[in-house]
Amino acid sequence: MKDCIFCRIISGEAPATIVFADEFVTAFYDIHPITPVHILVVPNEHIESVNEVEEKHAALLGHMIVVARQLAFANGLDQRGYRLVINTGPEAGQSVFHLHLHLIGGRRMPFRFQ
Ligand code: AMP
Ligand code: ZN
Repeated sequence: MKDCIFCRIISGEAPATIVFADEFVTAFYDIHPITPVHILVVPNEHIESVNEVEEKHAALLGHMIVVARQLAFANGLDQRGYRLVINTGPEAGQSVFHLHLHLIGGRRMPFRFQ
């Protein structure tokens, strides 16, 4: 998708600090981190949101979590704790319409979502 910022990052047309990439996913630092560790794990395929996910994407979504888990360990979060968040749609505050999983951690977070 030409006008999608995450597609442009995946293809190398737009800058980002990429921390992991393989055939299926790319992970990079969020440009506006809300926690000391804030990494986005995105599928290389342009999928707009969880609303567009189909059964054929099941392995890809599982892989996104496996990669997030590896990055959590690499950032020393496995014992401290972390969150994996996927915002979907306007009321959840989704602002980039290319599916992405937020790995956030490195500070204590409030128990409830606000
Ligand atoms: P969401 O609100 O769940 O759609 O999250 C989108 C996230 O993408 C936000 O946390 C933004 O800070 C982040 N973001 C937007 N543009 C970029 C970019 N060019 N590089 C890295 N992160 C970005
Ligand atoms: Zn895209």
